Order: sequence, then C-alpha cells, then structure tokens
Amino acid sequence: MNNNLLTFTFSREHQCDQLTRTLHLTLREHSTLTVNQDVSDFNAEISKHVITVADIQDIGYLIATTFTQATTLQLCIDTNIAACFERQQWLKWLSFGLALSNYHYHHRNSPLLAPILADFTLLNAGAGAGAGDNAAFADGKVLAHSQLIARELTNKPGNILYPQSFIEAVEALAINNIELSYLDDVMMLEQGFGGLMSIAQGSDREARLLCLDYHPQDPRFTVALVGKGVTFDSGGISIKQPRYMSTMKVDMGGAAAVVGALNAIAQLQLPIRVIGLCGLVENMPSGKAIKPGDVVTMLNKTNVEIITTDAEGRMVLADVLHYAQQHYQPDYLVDIATLTGGTGIALGKAYASLMGNDNNLIANAQTAGQACSELLWPMPTGGMFTTALNSDFADLRHGSEEPDGSPCVAATFLEHFIQPDQKWIHIDSAAMSLGMNHRKIYPKATTGYGTLLLTELCQQLILQDRLHQ
Ligand SMILES: [Zn+2]
Repeated sequence: MNNNLLTFTFSREHQCDQLTRTLHLTLREHSTLTVNQDVSDFNAEISKHVITVADIQDIGYLIATTFTQATTLQLCIDTNIAACFERQQWLKWLSFGLALSNYHYHHRNSPLLAPILADFTLLNAGAGAGAGDNAAFADGKVLAHSQLIARELTNKPGNILYPQSFIEAVEALAINNIELSYLDDVMMLEQGFGGLMSIAQGSDREARLLCLDYHPQDPRFTVALVGKGVTFDSGGISIKQPRYMSTMKVDMGGAAAVVGALNAIAQLQLPIRVIGLCGLVENMPSGKAIKPGDVVTMLNKTNVEIITTDAEGRMVLADVLHYAQQHYQPDYLVDIATLTGGTGIALGKAYASLMGNDNNLIANAQTAGQACSELLWPMPTGGMFTTALNSDFADLRHGSEEPDGSPCVAATFLEHFIQPDQKWIHIDSAAMSLGMNHRKIYPKATTGYGTLLLTELCQQLILQDRLHQ
C-alpha cells in the first residue's frame, strides 16, 4: 500500500532529539482538520472527503505547530487524494503553511516589520521527485514571507503606522529589483489630487502616494495594482460608532496586500512590469476636515459631492486609479480595498467581492482566487446603481444615503474614473483582513489577505499571454 502514497518529508532546525512524526492523509467522510497529540510513536491521520488548497495550507501549518518536538515531519497522502492536485501544488502550499507556523505579532514601538518565517527544508519528495520540487517548495516560502509583510503592516496600530511611517517600513524592506518613490502632500496638492487630499486634510498626518515599480527587462505587459491605504479610519466628521472602531487600523489592508504582492512578484521574477500604488491617508475629524455636502474637484476634474465622510476610500482610490492610467498606461488595472461593510454582509468571510469592466480579467481573477484559496464572488456595477450617484450640486455624488447595494454603488463610482478602453477590476476585501480564525494559518490578528490573490492573478495573466502567443 505504501507504494501508492505520495510522501513528503520536511525537516527543521531543532534543539531536541531526532524525532519523526508522520501524518497520513486519507479519503473518508469527515470534514475537520484536527491533530492534537504529539507523543512518541503517535502517527496521526486526517481524513476528509474534499481537499482544498486551503486545507493543504492549513495541514502544513498544523503539522508544524502540533509536532513541535519533532525534527522530521512526514506527510503520507493517499493516491486518490494526491491526484486532486499536481505535486508541485502540494509542495508549494505545504511549504507556505509550514513557513507561516512560527509567526506571532509582537508589538514594538517601531514601524519596522518582522515577518519571521519558520525554517523548513524539503528532505525527501518521495517517489516521482523531480527538478521542480525544490522550486515549488521555495515559492511557498516566498509567498509566506510576502503575506507576513502584509500581516505585519496591518497588525501595526495607527499611532505607529501612518502614511509616512508606512513608507519607511516598506523602504526598510529594501526589496530587490523594486524602485520605490512617493508623492508627498505638496506634490499631490500641486497636481490636483483633490479626492485623496480632501480626506487627508482632517488629519495632522501628511498623506503619501507610494509607488513601487518592478520593471524587468522586456516585460511582456504591464499591470498596475492600486491599494487603499487608510492607516486609520475614524469615519471623519461622519464619525463611526465606537464598537469595532479599534479595528479600523486595518483599513490599509489593500495597500498592505499590494506591498506583499510586489515583494512576491519581484522575488519570483515574473516577466512583467508591475506597478504598486498605495494611496496613504488618515481619515480624522477636525476643524479642517471635509464635511458632508462639500464638493471636491478630483484629479480628473470631476466635481464630487460628499455624502458621508466615512466613504473615504473611494475618494482616495479614484484619484490613484486616474493617476495610474495617466502615468503608466497599464494593460491591466486592479484595485483592492477594504471598502464597504456591505461586502461582508453579503458574502461573510467566504468571498471578497469582485467587480470590473472586462469579463476576461474577471474570469482570470476568479481562477486566481481558487488557485490560492482567496476566493472572489462577482457582483454587478452600473445600471440602477448609477442613479444612486446623481447629484443636484455636482457632477456626481460619491455614494448614497442608503446602504442598498453599497459594494456595487462604490464600484460604480470608481468606474467613472476608468477610461473606456482600460481593462479594470475592483476587489472589495472589507471582511477579509481580520477574524479569519476558521483557518489554521490565521489563529489570530490580521491575515494579509490579497497578497496571494494579486500574485496569483499576475501569474494567471502570464499563463494566458503565453497560451495566446
Ligand atoms: Zn470609512
């Protein structure tokens, strides 16, 4: 029977005696992942009737965190389960889960990041081992490291991580092959970033637009990734309820995912140019803050009437999306934002919502989501949602007084800032940055959601480009 198993053996640096623990993965009618023993000669078994990418990631994490005394971890996978994924997918996602297993967030009085990985090596990839095994194992580590960069950024509180210190944190990473630059308050006011600066004006913290440019020789095409980076969202004059306001430090989850993805894309040396743009502001109430009813002239000269100052993210994104098109003429434009509570109400923590103007790009994003277990669900834009944006006082309102269809209304607003021939998608990940502890890999704190998704999307687009050559 053992001849039929797919067997991987991993090892870690450890002080204890040489010990091996083996986990068998078999196909049966169960639906939970649990292993809670770590005693000598105990060999565990997990049985499931469906195995997903999320399960593979969680199993990697689970064996590393359960068998803490063992130097050598072995996973034996039944043939009928092994066949559900290519062996390199198994290796990549097991490696990802193993590498995440040492991470705990520790508060420090510094914006500098500490994305610490567990150090595992692939000792033996069993029968059928091939040249790609080590590469797949290494890719899993790169993805784990990249996601931890995003997690560290989102875990840090708003008094430590604000627009300027966000940039200092990313600068200190000194990511290979990435050119970092930014626009400050003065430059953005001069250039007419009326939307972004209208939100920033209530805060004592200066706004920033961070630009990360990964530009290999002869790139096949260009992708621009735009992230919402509201380092703390009080709601502004339309101040939020106190309940859960402390979680609003993660309102820069989109920007964090963009940084994480740029790190992965550069380390994996993808053959495309990728621009990461993070609109960084703090949304605060003050005597200088923007008010409901104010009219703001955006970077693209549209006049926008403010309805609630808590719908700040779309004002930031609209200007950055316009800037991305003007400056970089990307083949694909993607934005990701913790934008509307409505997405969480509709889809819970199962899916982020996905909207856009190009069916092919939408399909690629959904495929990417499935491939890395950061799932997306499509939602509509335009149509009836445009009427919510009619204003008596300006070209456009930025939202509605009513919560109805809020993810779709927000995306319809953003669509006004997209040129007709620009392929674009918008990912609303509002519910995904925190509280995902139904997954083993996220026992607490933030998730770094979007890092895997954006990276995988770029890989999907490269695959598609190769197929059509
Ligand atoms: Zn808000």
